[in-house]
Amino acid sequence: MTYDRLVCANCAAPVSEGRCPVCRANRERLQQENSFFAGLNPMTLIALLAVLVAAVALLAHQTV
Ligand SMILES: [Zn+2]
Repeated sequence: MTYDRLVCANCAAPVSEGRCPVCRANRERLQQENSFFAGLNPMTLIALLAVLVAAVALLAHQTV
């Protein structure tokens, strides 16, 4: 999600410029959300990979 084009309801300036406390609060929150999703995605991939490996191992154990 990008906040480049988000306009502040308080000062009507782009939130990314941080002209008023409302802008800065919104910018802070959006940056935290971005970093949260950036940290989540690799972990989700690793979890999916672990599930896949476990499923393959289980399948191989059953067929042999
Ligand atoms: Zn503002």
